[in-house]
Amino acid sequence: MGKSIAINAGSSTLKFKLFEMPSEKLLSMGAIERIGLGSSDVEIKYGDGEKYKDNLDIKDHDEAIKLLLDKLISLKIINDFHEITGVGHRVVAGGEFFTDSVVVDDENLKKIESLKEFAPLHEPANVLGIKAFKKILPDAISIAVFDTSFHTSLPEVNYMYSLPYEYYEKYKARKYGAHGTSYRYVSQRAADMLGKPLEDLKLVILHLGAGASIDAVKDGKSFDTSMGFSPVAGITMATRSGDVDPSVLQYVMEKDGIDNMDDMIDILNHKSGLIGISGVSADMREVEEAQTENHRAHLARDIFMNRVVRYIGSYVAEMGGIDALVFTAGIGENSITLRQEVTDKLSYFGIKVDPEKNDIRGVERDLSAEGSTVKTLLIPTDEELMIVRDIERLRK
Ligand code: ADP
Repeated sequence: MGKSIAINAGSSTLKFKLFEMPSEKLLSMGAIERIGLGSSDVEIKYGDGEKYKDNLDIKDHDEAIKLLLDKLISLKIINDFHEITGVGHRVVAGGEFFTDSVVVDDENLKKIESLKEFAPLHEPANVLGIKAFKKILPDAISIAVFDTSFHTSLPEVNYMYSLPYEYYEKYKARKYGAHGTSYRYVSQRAADMLGKPLEDLKLVILHLGAGASIDAVKDGKSFDTSMGFSPVAGITMATRSGDVDPSVLQYVMEKDGIDNMDDMIDILNHKSGLIGISGVSADMREVEEAQTENHRAHLARDIFMNRVVRYIGSYVAEMGGIDALVFTAGIGENSITLRQEVTDKLSYFGIKVDPEKNDIRGVERDLSAEGSTVKTLLIPTDEELMIVRDIERLRK
């Protein structure tokens, strides 16, 4: 029996989940944050609710990974590094090239490095994580699982922008989407729950976390998705704007003396969305709490809901129908009121949720009311489980 680890490396973070395989038992999970910033937070959960926490000076990803593996041993989660026989890395951008997860050999690593222009903040960090693990665990299989690969099935009509065609031809400027690993997991679970082949279903999946997007799944494939060339597009998010008219950016930049597009993109990614509108919080729980007394918090939630409903409507129209609506990720799994209010607005599609069934958080369940012609499902996502399953699939 081997163990496999799913890794999500950011520029200053390293998150992991360690599984025993093939039983898929979760052995440990945790994160190292603020790597290279002087004082790094380490948190490792394991065993029967046990938790290790520390604050250390960790210089880089190599050091973070060494520390993590040493801790896994000293906490008796593993006995030896070599028990970890598979490492799966979440990689943000796979471009048009990676249509599935791959084993990372020298050629694939070069290709991943060459895609950094598509995700300048994330891709270099993903590569750091891959290289650091390869150094320490050279015998373990190393795979890359791309956020975008599920969306390489999008039809041309949905991935092209209405821009001069040469920008696509010359620079591959198009929609790539994100959250693909979550959509792969959730769409398959939805088909299992409905007892029908995925290929026969039309699904709209709402991945509503801090980063949020919506996906239309048709014929077992991603058919349209709300994120675009980058994750800033689509619906309103915790700190991201979602869709905006580019001309308003030019106008604001002139008025506010913002002379650099990078700074404006930073505002769209980090200072917009729920936090930007409400001024209260980027966290939906706090926005919901504040909304009765605070107009801007109320507005932020209303705008969030409006964008969700708008995308669902357009995806039902594009697919020519819907069999099931699926809620997942932090907000989708936990906000009972938001699920109820969103589905109430969609009753004309034949969507009806049973309030008693809906009175639940984070558990897989069919929420549909009697007589509802379209099913509503709650399916907690598990991207890391999908990653370690890919390790098993690619090992063969
Ligand atoms: P990400 O993976 O994008 O960081 P998550 O999927 O973990 O995000 O979702 C985190 C978000 O889920 C939080 O920011 C919070 O807004 C939301 N959330 C968690 N619990 C609740 C709840 N009980 N009610 C409303 N929103 C919640």
